[in-house]
Amino acid sequence: MTSLQDKPISDKTDSLTINKIFDLQKGNQYNVGNSTVKERRAKLDRLHQAILKYRNDIKKALYDDFKKHPSEVDMTEIYPVTSEIKHAKSNLALWMRDQSIHTPLALLGSSSYIKYEPKGVVLIISPWNFPVNLTFCPLVSAIAAGNCVIIKPSEMTPHIATVMKKIVDEIFDENEVAMIEGGIDVSTELLKLPFNHIFFTGAPSVGKIVMAAAAKNLTSVTLELGGKSPTIVDETADIDMAARRITWSKFANNGQICIAPDYVYVHESKKEAFLTAVKKYIHQFYSDDATKESSYNRIVNSRHFDRLKGYIEDAVSKGAKIETGGQLSGTENYIAPTVMTRVDKSSILMTNEIFGPIMPVFGFQRIEDVIQDINAQEKPLALYIFSKSSKNTNHIINNTRAGGGCINHCAVHYYNTHLPFGGSNNSGIGKAHGIEGFKSFSNSRGILKQNFTNALELLLPPFNNFKQKLIDLTIKYF
Ligand code: NAD
Repeated sequence: MTSLQDKPISDKTDSLTINKIFDLQKGNQYNVGNSTVKERRAKLDRLHQAILKYRNDIKKALYDDFKKHPSEVDMTEIYPVTSEIKHAKSNLALWMRDQSIHTPLALLGSSSYIKYEPKGVVLIISPWNFPVNLTFCPLVSAIAAGNCVIIKPSEMTPHIATVMKKIVDEIFDENEVAMIEGGIDVSTELLKLPFNHIFFTGAPSVGKIVMAAAAKNLTSVTLELGGKSPTIVDETADIDMAARRITWSKFANNGQICIAPDYVYVHESKKEAFLTAVKKYIHQFYSDDATKESSYNRIVNSRHFDRLKGYIEDAVSKGAKIETGGQLSGTENYIAPTVMTRVDKSSILMTNEIFGPIMPVFGFQRIEDVIQDINAQEKPLALYIFSKSSKNTNHIINNTRAGGGCINHCAVHYYNTHLPFGGSNNSGIGKAHGIEGFKSFSNSRGILKQNFTNALELLLPPFNNFKQKLIDLTIKYF
């Protein structure tokens, strides 16, 4: 039992409620953990149906939170969850099956298998930028793996948090899946509990706080973090195609995407053509005045607006040139799609994750300089390469490190549920999606079953010369 006091943590919850739900789930974890493939599929179906039922409410809430266009909600919030559910449902029987594995000759007479057992009671802490996607996709993996789940959504997008809570309350008993709303206070209180796993999506700085709290209980973690994802456009690339795809992935969701191309290196010989093409696509996607375009959302709140405004001002004060954009409106948390060149590398724009609609573009002559630049920074969550040369592409991939990425596209690797998704070190620990998500929420329990006499029994004490000879032979040959 836990030792939290009954004190209000936020206007929505108190520590007794958190305590009660946690203890209920602890008591119910074997029940949930022993659920069959059919039962888990039925839970995923309920989630699927509820998301479709509340699809319009989700769209309205996300519009109210940061003017997200309904079609973008379908593409980036609804579809990733429904496809994750479909993928989990069709593969669940295979994932849950005990996996028979090889037994070495020295263990003759035995067989071995891996049982993917649920971790138990797990915590999911999610961010605001894709609240539905980044709350429900990990939930799908946690349910598929047979866990009880407590979810803490972001406090920054309150409208969608209310809809998600309604969905969770409607389709799950709280002894199985519960959502607890609140901010840092609630998160901090939850992190004191001895969860069996924590799946956190958010900033690297907060990831460190989560991991430190988890260490107190030796709780395992999956950390889906952020960082600066570089994009390289080499001299062989199709410039128009690169500009179109980079412009789309940079300014979708107002640049508030963990895997958005953070900044771009373009071969000097193509830089002007690239900038011209980017301006053309900004105009095509959002016209000359994006304030009037419903396809262009807003910065989530004034704190983030002020942060980004400061990034632009700092870069300009250090000599950066605004190629296009730069218009701001504090009353609307609006920043026009902005492209900057001549950005000094010491600008905050280049030392922090941008997470907004500002795109620094740099020219380069030698790819080795770009590689050196990238490797001097933290490992990115994604690295993108636009090139027609597989030699160049392989050279870049082999000489850099990143959580994932794309060749000739940006961000769409997220959509492939067969690919592991996540970072490396500062950009994340562990992977999400598909089988990788299922494994994050499972313990791979290795079990050896002794069927016949074990050859090792010949080597039990007391030792003698004959036994030593057998040991020598085993070391030499098996
Ligand atoms: P955040 O880290 O500020 O917040 C994420 C969650 O953590 C929220 O629920 C918040 O309430 C909680 N939290 C915040 N501070 C906390 C603290 N001190 N102690 C305990 N809990 C705390 O992140 P955000 O602003 O919501 O999202 C933006 C960040 O998330 C960016 O860095 C972005 O790159 C990253 N991100 C990563 C992924 C991914 O899949 N790797 C996806 C989306 C966003």
